Formats: sequence, structure tokens, C-alpha cells
Amino acid sequence: MDAISSSRRWLLSVAAGAVTGPAVTDRAGSQRHPEGREWSGPWTRESRAAVVRAMPEAVAWARAARWPFGAVLVALDGGAVAAGAANSAEDGDMTAHAEMNLLREAAARGVRLRDHAVVSTAEPCPMCAGALLWAGVPAVAFGTAGARLTALGVPQIDLSFESVARRSSVGPRPAVARGVRADLTDPLYEELARLWRGAGGS
Ligand SMILES: [Zn+2]
Repeated sequence: MDAISSSRRWLLSVAAGAVTGPAVTDRAGSQRHPEGREWSGPWTRESRAAVVRAMPEAVAWARAARWPFGAVLVALDGGAVAAGAANSAEDGDMTAHAEMNLLREAAARGVRLRDHAVVSTAEPCPMCAGALLWAGVPAVAFGTAGARLTALGVPQIDLSFESVARRSSVGPRPAVARGVRADLTDPLYEELARLWRGAGGS
């Protein structure tokens, strides 16, 4: 009998600041994946696979939204998707980013956030980063970096998720994965940038 679940072990390793899994960790504590992804923190082979598998579902949420930002909550143990959300800021609440909506959905459903990773099509903005840190999400994975959105001309507050996380004393610092399935997420924002330019946006 497995007396301690793999997600519990994962969380204990988060708390201990340990790094597990087969990837090589450099002095800065980041792991360079052969496919160009970057992993910081105690990702395991299983939790990495879970967030990579879940990204297409986050992209589907994004594709259904006017502003193509989507996010899902995926179980670190087993990879089941527990909830999903898209940006709905066009409905009048400008704080209704995908990650904010996802946290509200998770609260409404009673999902235990500490067993889940948030998988977002784009790097969480400073507002969402703060919310994710206050919520105690142990792992955050995203596709397109905020710097890429800025380069494309998509309006952003230019402060990385990890910059916000470094200034937080709320719980253990979450594990972060950057560039997850960016082959799927970058086109969302390249299309958005084309529409934005076509509409005369700035
Ligand atoms: Zn946001």
C-alpha cells in the first residue's frame, strides 16, 4: 500500500526546496528541457507530463474567448483536469482574466489547489500572479512569455511571474514552467496582434 501519495511527496519536496526528476539543474536552479522549455522548482517526470498534456485544453478555452487567454487546473498526481476558464474581461469586469476566473471556479467547486498546477496559455500578469500566490498554487506552467506578448504589441504590465513570486513571503514559492507547448500558444497571440494592428489598436 502506498501510504503517501505521489502528490503529497511532491508537495513535501516543494516545502523542502528539493529538486526531483531527471532533468539537470543549473546553478540558477532552472532546468533546460531538450524541447526548449524551462522548468524551475521540484517538477517530477509525472507533473511535467501532466502540464504538457493539459495545455491543449487551456488553448481550447482560449480559442473560445474573445481575448485568447485560457487556463486549466491539472492534478499533479494523475494529471486529471479539475477546472478550466477563459478570459471574460469583455463582459465588463476587467479583472476577469483566465487565471482569476479559474481560481473562482476552483473555489466554487471546492478543488484543493495545493494538489494542482495552473496551466495557462500565457504568463500570468502581475494581478493574476498575486492571486495565484495568495491562493497557494504550488505549480504554475505557461506557454507564451509576457515578454513575447509585449513584443507582439499585446498590452501588458511588464513584470514577470517569477519577479512577483520572488517578492512573496506567502507560502512556498511555486514551481514554474515556461514555454510549455509554446508551439500551440504563440499562434494565439500572433493572431491577436494581427487583429489588434488591423483594428488600429495601440
Ligand atoms: Zn492576468
